Amino acid sequence: MPLEGKVAIVTGASRGIGEYIARVLAGAGAAVTVAARTVEVTDKRLPGTIYTVAEHITSRGGKALPVRLDVRDPESIESCVQRTVDEFGRVDIIVNNAAILVPGQLENVQPRHLDLIWQIDLRGPLLLMRAALPHLRAAGAGHIINISSRAGVFPGPGPYREARAGGSFYAMVKAGLERYSQSLAIELQDANISVNVLSPQGRIRTPGNIWAQNDPDDPTLEFEPADKIAVAARWICEQPPAELTGNILFDEEVCREYGLKPAVD
Ligand code: NAP
Repeated sequence: MPLEGKVAIVTGASRGIGEYIARVLAGAGAAVTVAARTVEVTDKRLPGTIYTVAEHITSRGGKALPVRLDVRDPESIESCVQRTVDEFGRVDIIVNNAAILVPGQLENVQPRHLDLIWQIDLRGPLLLMRAALPHLRAAGAGHIINISSRAGVFPGPGPYREARAGGSFYAMVKAGLERYSQSLAIELQDANISVNVLSPQGRIRTPGNIWAQNDPDDPTLEFEPADKIAVAARWICEQPPAELTGNILFDEEVCREYGLKPAVD
């Protein structure tokens, strides 16, 4: 198996895209820390827990460690990395997938929502990368994948036919994450650690996407399956880090160009 012996931490792995990435990396042989906050389902709109995903993996012969992680909390991040090292002995792969979208426009956004999106979507990934870095360096190689969105480049220059508001702050932090990923890729190149950004080409039907008002029953909305981004993430982890770093990648393009077959067990 291509990732046999590797150890990955996937944030936001209790459901949605993170769950698929965790399952696919584990299916390729990696031991996976399934990291998120949910330990019990209390709202049916938010299915999945760190335990259900870890059990799914282990029931198929994979290795998984469920770890309660709140990326808002620096101590929780440090502890997640330490628990991974205690359990599996190393860290080779970080997937910063956990993210939220907050509503509002400049004139009505709540300052606490700005703090929240900064803490979860940008500061959390930065602190996880920092906490994991000594272990990636010790492993002699590694991959960091930061999950972004087309929102990071949307919408380009105006004028605009429709006023589509609501994702502006999400777009701002995703753009920041993309920009920082490339800066970090330069810093880590000599350490043989890659930093790449991976985004869905379109929409993926996840609890988060549905919450963001992309009605799953709207016949005009097209959704792509979550397994494309998961196999694209696996493919990145299979590449020599020095040869693929600092890229802003889209799942469909990666799958098409490298002939990847979306499949999630
Ligand atoms: P989702 O369904 O809302 O899942 C988000 C995940 O993040 C959950 O596992 C959630 O777990 C976790 N999370 C939220 N707050 C957290 C916190 N404070 N600490 C730790 N984990 C936290 O989202 P998704 O649609 O799968 O999106 C995943 C990634 O893809 C995001 O980076 C998103 O921006 C990106 N993306 C998605 C789409 C799409 O169409 N779905 C499109 C473009 C980009 P807990 O609640 O258990 O903590």
